[in-house]
Amino acid sequence: MPKRKKVLIIYTGGTIGMIKRKPEGPYIPFDFKLIKSEFPELDRLECDVDVVSYDPPLDSSNIGPVVWAKIARTIGENYKRFDGFVILHGSDTMAYTGSALSFMLEGLSKPVILTGAQLPINEIRTDAKENLVTALQIASHPDRPIKEVGIYFGSKLYRANRTQKAHADVFSAFNSVNFPALVEAGVHLYFRHPTPTDAWKGIEFNVQDKLDTRVGHLRFFPGISAETLDSVLLSPNLKGIILQSYGAGNLPTDKGLIQSLKASIAQGKVILNITQCMGGSVEMGRYATSALLLQAGVLPGGDMTFEAALAKMMYLLGKYTDIETVRQMLVRNIRGEMRAERGYTE
Ligand code: ASP
Repeated sequence: MPKRKKVLIIYTGGTIGMIKRKPEGPYIPFDFKLIKSEFPELDRLECDVDVVSYDPPLDSSNIGPVVWAKIARTIGENYKRFDGFVILHGSDTMAYTGSALSFMLEGLSKPVILTGAQLPINEIRTDAKENLVTALQIASHPDRPIKEVGIYFGSKLYRANRTQKAHADVFSAFNSVNFPALVEAGVHLYFRHPTPTDAWKGIEFNVQDKLDTRVGHLRFFPGISAETLDSVLLSPNLKGIILQSYGAGNLPTDKGLIQSLKASIAQGKVILNITQCMGGSVEMGRYATSALLLQAGVLPGGDMTFEAALAKMMYLLGKYTDIETVRQMLVRNIRGEMRAERGYTE
């Protein structure tokens, strides 16, 4: 008989385990006991499950780099003892946490699956049970086809760093426009895109929990003032900026703007250009309006989501002191977060 797989559940909070103290009151995070008592079938699974519960459980709006590092360390401390990990997490910032973990867990070769729910586990129409059971099945699958960080929600497992929360109400709350689902769950689990066997090859498992949060965001819009632009581009408190431009990476051909971008880069900042569109990629140089940005030293972010770009920049700035290395790695596909000619490299 094959050995039973061991999965560690890391319970951080989120709607899945929330309760209402009064019928009309707000949802409040509750501890893992609620999930255990509402879902005794957990004991019938074909894997052994241990649980680490964070205290207090958090609404994911309160989760950021400090908790990302804590989750990464929990996985690091338990990496050898478990075959897979399921992180229960609110859906609001799950795409950020998933993206961050995909970078911080270097050389990962086990499944790390984030899931949660749109309705708490003790509500009659809850989506929590299916999400949790399937996430556990993927994390404990005997062949381990998934060796990366994924988000399981609404019958699909997506690569976490390709995912965005796209809907506040429906059960399929996430999308991954630029990359197909890794797994579709129907009567069976269909592993459509297992993790490539050469992904992250040669990298030893390691937790990189040092992030540099001095990253800013500039989403362009028609009529944005020069003052607003400069307050971000020339801020002394920032080391990197994610620039969200139009379409395939375009911005106005305004001399003042190009000068500000050049001044920002001359200050040593890294500027990464991604699109405001839901899908597709920046292709700097396709239009004159983006060729100028390229000449100014702005880097093309390919088809990365905002969540992935932000997490990647915090990770690289935290890991490398040499800004030229950060620039080179930003435009390279290192965790499947962007389309690339070559495979995953680091
Ligand atoms: N506000 C909740 C959270 O992100 C929503 C959810 O869990 O889906 O924690």
